[in-house]
Parts: sequence; structure tokens; C-alpha cells
Amino acid sequence: MAVEDGDHFVVNGEKMFIMHGDVAEVGVLFCRVDGRPELSALIFDDTTQGGWQARALKDKLGMRAATSGGIVLKDVRVPKENMMGEPGKGYEYAVATLDRARAVVAAQAVGIGQRALDESVEYAKKRQAFGQPIAKLQAIQWMIADMATRLEAARGLVYRAAQMQDAGEDVSMEASMARLYAAEMAGFCVDRAMQIHAGYGYIGEFSPIEKLYRDHRALELDEGTFEVPQLVIADKVIGR
Ligand SMILES: Cc1cc2nc3c(=O)[nH]c(=O)nc-3n(C[C@H](O)[C@H](O)[C@H](O)COP(=O)(O)OP(=O)(O)OC[C@H]3O[C@@H](n4cnc5c(N)ncnc54)[C@H](O)[C@@H]3O)c2cc1C
Repeated sequence: MAVEDGDHFVVNGEKMFIMHGDVAEVGVLFCRVDGRPELSALIFDDTTQGGWQARALKDKLGMRAATSGGIVLKDVRVPKENMMGEPGKGYEYAVATLDRARAVVAAQAVGIGQRALDESVEYAKKRQAFGQPIAKLQAIQWMIADMATRLEAARGLVYRAAQMQDAGEDVSMEASMARLYAAEMAGFCVDRAMQIHAGYGYIGEFSPIEKLYRDHRALELDEGTFEVPQLVIADKVIGR
């Protein structure tokens, strides 16, 4: 909540789960101003103020190459000129950002799925069981075929959403579909990769599959949980 005070806003509140929130020196905050119901967006560029209390969140399951933070704001002062865009348009800006972010999360999922497949193919050719590489076993081949097929389908959805975005079209449904399908695909591929690597997949010392297994789960949570794109798709399909 921001309250006007001369040529500044005074902001109080708390935000959990912010990628790099513990180290960021600049940020955009969506908040209400003077109790009005609509959201506005403020740019923070002075995080040295005493009322800005940021901390790193500990023991994150995956995605550990990036930190996540929580921020508490106590009487933090923001110049009025730091209002991003027009007052009261914050929700529109947030939704527009999320549409773009969904396609990005979907692309991340394709990356995780591709790595899982690549690692699996390489390992299956190398790993010998009962005198032959496990890649010669049909059970392993089926898993690889299923992974490759779903990966290709997900990649197609991501490219389509990205092309539409580049053309300036409304991508809320296509980006949501790409995000849903690709994140599920990543979970499937990582799970199959774990099966192919078996014991060597479960232990991080031996393969990256353990890391991919932890990382992929965030794809169903961040940038809005899975349920949000489902709502977006249902709204478009049903035509509400
Ligand atoms: C690794 C990671 C990084 C993140 N980074 C950021 C970031 O940089 N910036 C940021 O702003 N957030 C970030 N988030 C937060 C993330 O966007 C939220 O966790 C997510 O939006 C859900 O909010 P919540 O955790 O409060 O769950 P809740 O809102 O408490 O939801 C709990 C459950 O209820 C369901 N639910 C809630 N409301 C509805 C509804 N109306 N209809 C149907 N189901 C519903 C949810 O889908 C979920 O299953 C991050 C999260 C993670 C895990």
C-alpha cells in the first residue's frame, strides 16, 4: 500500500518469492495507492533505505542458480516521478508481462526436457547391462521415443506462441497452452531420464538428472501456478 506524501509515496507491505529479490537494486512493485482498489506500478531504485528489508529465502528445492528473496517495506519513500506508466494501470501491465513470461517459462521447460533427452541418449549408448548397451533394449527405446515426441510437440507450441508474440498478436491462450504442455512434458522427460539412469540418476554426484528433477517442479509454480493458465485457456475456449 502506497500513501501520497508531498512529492513522494510512502510504501508499506510485504512481498514473498521474488527472483533475486534479496540482491536487487531496482524493482517494480505493484501496489494500491491511497486505498484505491486498482493497482499501480512503482519503480524502486533506492534499496539502501532503512525500511527496505530484503532477505534470501533458504532451502529452495531447485533453480538454485538464481536466488529468491522476500522483501518487507516499512515506510519506504518513492518519488512520485517513479510511477511506471499511468496510475491505476498496474494490473494491465502485470497481465501483459505474464503473457510474455508464460512463453519464457515454456521455453525453459523445453530446455529442461531437451537436456533430459540428450543425457538419456548418451547414457543409454554408454551404459552396458548384460553385455550390451541399454540403448539396445526396447524398453529404453520406447521411453526415448516418448520423450522425443512430447519434446517436439512442446517446442512447436512454444515457437507458435513466440511467433505470435513477435507479430504483436494476443497470445494469452497460446502462451498458456505452451506453458502447461511444456511444463508437463519437462516433468515427464525428467522422470523418464531418471528411470533410464536409475541409481546413477538419483545421485547428483553422477549425473545432472537429480538437479533437473528438482528444477522442473518450479515450472508448475512460478509465474503463476498451473491453475492460472488453465483458467485463461478455459475462458478463451468457453468464450466467457
Ligand atoms: C522458484 C519460485 C520463484 C518465484 N519467483 C517469483 C517472482 O520472481 N516474482 C513473483 O511475484 N512471484 C514469484 N514466485 C511466486 C509464485 O508466482 C507464487 O508462488 C504463485 O503465484 C502462487 O502463489 P502462492 O504461492 O501464494 O500460492 P496460493 O495463491 O496460496 O495458492 C495455493 C494453491 O491454491 C490454488 N489457487 C489459488 N487461487 C486460485 C484460484 N483463484 N483458482 C484456482 N486455484 C487457485 C493455487 O493454484 C495453488 O495450487 C516464485 C515462486 C517460486 C516457487
